[in-house]
Parts: sequence; C-alpha cells; structure tokens
Amino acid sequence: MTTPKRHVWQPAGLRGLKLNSSPDHLDCVCPGTMKSQKLLRPLLLWCCFTIVPVLIWFLLGTEPIKYLPFYLPCPDIFSMRLQYRGEKSRGLFPQLFYPQPSALEQTRSDVLTLTPWLAPIIWEGTFNSQILDRTYKPLNLTIGMTAFAVGKYVQFVGRFLESAELYFMAGYRVNYYIFTDRPQDIPVVHLQPGRTLGLVPIKKYTHWEEISMRRMEAINRYISETAHREVDYLFCLDIDMVFHNPWGPETFGEMVAAIHPGYFKVPRTDFPYERRSISTAYIHREEGDFYYAGAVFGGLTKNVYEFTRACHMTILADKANGVMAAWQEESHLNRHFLSHKPSKLLSPEYLWDDTKPKPPEVRLVRFSTVVKNHRQLRN
Ligand code: UDP
Repeated sequence: MTTPKRHVWQPAGLRGLKLNSSPDHLDCVCPGTMKSQKLLRPLLLWCCFTIVPVLIWFLLGTEPIKYLPFYLPCPDIFSMRLQYRGEKSRGLFPQLFYPQPSALEQTRSDVLTLTPWLAPIIWEGTFNSQILDRTYKPLNLTIGMTAFAVGKYVQFVGRFLESAELYFMAGYRVNYYIFTDRPQDIPVVHLQPGRTLGLVPIKKYTHWEEISMRRMEAINRYISETAHREVDYLFCLDIDMVFHNPWGPETFGEMVAAIHPGYFKVPRTDFPYERRSISTAYIHREEGDFYYAGAVFGGLTKNVYEFTRACHMTILADKANGVMAAWQEESHLNRHFLSHKPSKLLSPEYLWDDTKPKPPEVRLVRFSTVVKNHRQLRN
C-alpha cells in the first residue's frame, strides 16, 4: 500500500534544494513562518553591521588600550634616571677610538696589578688616561691636596707647587691646602685657572715626630671645618717631594694607599711595622700585605675623614699609654690598612726615592723625594 504524497511548499530561494523529508520537519515549514524569516534576515544583518560594532566600541573603545606588560616595552621606566644620594650623574661614554683591551693578555706581566682583595695596583701601562679623562672630566670634580710646611720645610713649597701645577691633575679643578706655621714665607706660585691655594695656619710642635704625627688630627679637623664642602677627592702628600710625570684620575679611588718604595721587594717579616703589642699599631710578624708609605694617601673626602680620625684616635690611645709607634703615623696607617683594606694601591712610581737606583719595573717616576739633610731640617 502506498502513502499519498503531500504537497510541500518551497520558497523561491530554496527551490531545488533537497529538503529534509521527515514528517516533523514538514510540519514546521509553512508559508507564515517563511514570511517572518524573510523579514528577520535583513534585520539581523543590519544589527550585525550597526549595533554590534557600536556595542564593541562602547565596551572597549572608551578604555585605554592595555598592553601585556610581560614582553612589551614600558617607555616610562626606560626614560627614568635615578639620582642617588651623593652620586654625580654620568653621561654616556663618548665615541673614542683606542687599542682593544685583550681578555687574554696582561698589559703588565712583570708586576702585581691586582691585590688578593681585588684592588687595582696602578703602574704605568695598566690604564688609558684618555678613557679616564673622558670618564671623570664631565663630572666637574674638585680635587683637594694637603701638604704640611712647618718650620724649615717651607723651603720645599715653591718647587713642590710648581711641579704640581705641571703634573698633578692637569685639567681638573684643584685646591691646594698648605698647612704652615709660617704663611709669610710661602712663595707666590702662579696657578692655572681653576686651581686655588689656601694656607691653613698650624701650630709648630717642638719635636719633628709630633709635627709628623699631628698631621692626621689637622687634616681631620680641616676636612670637618672646610674641605668636606669644597673637594670630592683629597690627597695627602709629603712636601719634600717633586712631581716628574702626570698624576691623574687613575689615582681616584674610595681609599687609596701607596706602596713604600723601600719595601716592595721585601718579605713582610722584614717590614718596619710596629712589633710591640703594647701599641695600638702592633702587627704580628706573620701578618701584612704591603708596607704602605705615610707620605701619600687619599681617596673620597668622606673616607679620608674617617681614616684620619681612626688614625688620630689610635695615636692618642698610644700617647695615653706613653707609647710612640716605630714610624709614628706611618705605623698607624699600616695597622689601619691591614684591617681596612684600601680600594686602590699606587705603585712606587707614585712615591719614588731618588736616592735609589730605578729598577726596570718602575717605568715612570711620577712623584719622588728631594734629597735633604734630615739633621739640618729637624734642628
Ligand atoms: N714636616 C714638616 N716640618 C717638619 C717635619 C715634617 O712640615 O719639621 C712635614 C712635611 O710635610 C714632610 C712630612 O711632614 O714632608 C714628613 O716628614 P719627614 O719628611 O721629615 O719624614 P720622612 O718622610 O723623611 O720620614
């Protein structure tokens, strides 16, 4: 028996398409529904192209666009420059052409250029002055230098300052502080622009040891009263000396000590450290790094202040016990630098003794003693 075929209405657009022939489906498809669908379709299309974009714009467009912070650049951090306390801002290193440093070659293999605590030891050939000048000159630093001319030592001032004008920190602002009991006998020396000479009145002690030892106290006091406002680095030098070659920014350091020219080839058991345990400057025979000279030390002004204060205190403690260390303030300086390692060491090129023959490792004598008659000077 065959089922009679029902008539299926098919809208014009769908004619020819195969319709689902299930009876349920056929029940839904009627001319009324088709008419409303015909009206809905353009309405939906209109919504898609007008209302939906407006809605999206409304939801997202009013908010600022957020980038994922994980890998996209964040310009405000990159352009931020922090100025830490007490720090001078450094610009970018300018373009400069110089010989390439080699990671596999020592520029000096005949001398020690680094201490076991990683402080550089400055010898000729270990640095490039051009690079250092390009680093430090833009910082507009002022460098201080103290020297004592008490009693007959005023006779050394003229030669000392004239040679300093030629070689000490050439091109930098320099303040010389000459501590003296005879200001009227200090010769007039022509100074380069940006360099000044200040005379600091000081009492003359009767014994030369006392004059020498009191330097720590005098420097310390002068830093606290004046120099801390005036200079960034401070070097404290003997005055019976002459500069022979440039002494520049390679000597800048937090705390700088100089290896004594008389003891750089000597075992530490033979160093003239203070060996009496009653003194605060005492050093055991098996201790010691280098024998440092009292004639040259320096560093950042605040560190020189702390250093001179510490040495002055130990000198006073010895004095209270009726003790004078073997080499006065030099013994205290050596004791201090054993427990407070200097951050930079100057080789004997920076403190040479002209009475000694110059060994090949001392390539360039920069600062050296003048020959003097101790007995005549100390009387
Ligand atoms: N000094 C001084 N008048 C003196 C003794 C010493 O001005 O009567 C100063 C001077 O600056 C000198 C330093 O102290 O350079 C060190 O003294 P000295 O040269 O006598 O010691 P040395 O280095 O010869 O042991």
